[in-house]
Amino acid sequence: MSQDYYELLGVSRTASADDIKKAFRKLAMQHHPDRNRGDKESEKESEKKFKAVNHAYDILKDPEKRAAYDRYGAAAFEGGGAGPNGPQGQGFDFGSVFGDIFDEMFGGGGRGRGGRTDTRGQDLRFNLEITLEQAYGGTDATVRVPSSVSCEVCQGSGAEAGSKPQTCPTCQGRGRLRAQQGFFTVERACHTCHGAGQIIDKPCRTCAGQGRVRRDKTLKVNIPAGVEDGTRIRLSGEGEAGARGGPAGDLYVFLSVRRHQLFEREGADIHCRVPISMVQATLGGNIEVPTLDGKMARINIPAGAQGGHQFRLRAKGMPIVRSTQRGDMYIEINVETPTNLTSKQKELLKEFEKAGKTSPESEGFFSKVKEMFGG
Ligand SMILES: [Zn+2]
Ligand SMILES: [Zn+2]
Repeated sequence: MSQDYYELLGVSRTASADDIKKAFRKLAMQHHPDRNRGDKESEKESEKKFKAVNHAYDILKDPEKRAAYDRYGAAAFEGGGAGPNGPQGQGFDFGSVFGDIFDEMFGGGGRGRGGRTDTRGQDLRFNLEITLEQAYGGTDATVRVPSSVSCEVCQGSGAEAGSKPQTCPTCQGRGRLRAQQGFFTVERACHTCHGAGQIIDKPCRTCAGQGRVRRDKTLKVNIPAGVEDGTRIRLSGEGEAGARGGPAGDLYVFLSVRRHQLFEREGADIHCRVPISMVQATLGGNIEVPTLDGKMARINIPAGAQGGHQFRLRAKGMPIVRSTQRGDMYIEINVETPTNLTSKQKELLKEFEKAGKTSPESEGFFSKVKEMFGG
């Protein structure tokens, strides 16, 4: 083990901390025993090399140790300390090395190095139904969410007043334990504290040591004008309280917009079918239709309007979220065929029919039928 550390890592004595780290990562991957399985001899060799590289990096990554090494050489670290031949040399820790590398390679996966993320509260989902009018105007909805909140008696610690949670003796508060499996070290949640890193001798009686109690909470949710069915609003930190002082989860409000009796939404446009009488359609006239802003709009029906005709009311549709624009409103007229006529009305209609042709489309249609049959 008397090889020069710089040489071992293949870097110059003036190499930057970054260069040293890069060189180390490359060598550590190359010499990791798990990558050199098979031949007993080369396995042993790579393990030796791996330990040497790791030790060299241990010294050179620390500015103080590196300075000592530069001045006194390896002698500065002999006879104790963290070297591979020192008192801790037997329990050589592959895990700490690979912890560093894996965290960088896989971005840590959101799991803190202390492994204490198990106490985060759960995310909650709340389904909220609103009316089309509310979606149109935007609204502040008040929602009551069944939830748990941090226990006031123990301030979320889970420990009875006068006592304190103790650092878990099994994992020393890390919440995770390492176990050697061959050359690899696996990490798992500590069995004593279940990953919390702390144990509670005297649990708080109010929350039974959970650090949180069940309680509904009332929240105001701002619903912007123009929201669509299926919109999801996230309220950060408003989910379930964390266990024993852990961070709270998030609350997701899933919006659904109730079907309206008169209006049908299509994106930002609103459609409405309005029935008018045969006489209204024939003679023309004004009708009034409701709009989503709670007012009435007046529409001029021209004489001879046909069923299915659409009128467009510009910018009377839904607002578009985060925009000043609005959709349009389309009014389709539905000309009703009279039913339940009195005999007088029937007489009048027959009279009306005799007086002359009045149906432009059917005249065209039936003349085409005649053509079709060579009439
Ligand atoms: Zn409590
Ligand atoms: Zn523990």
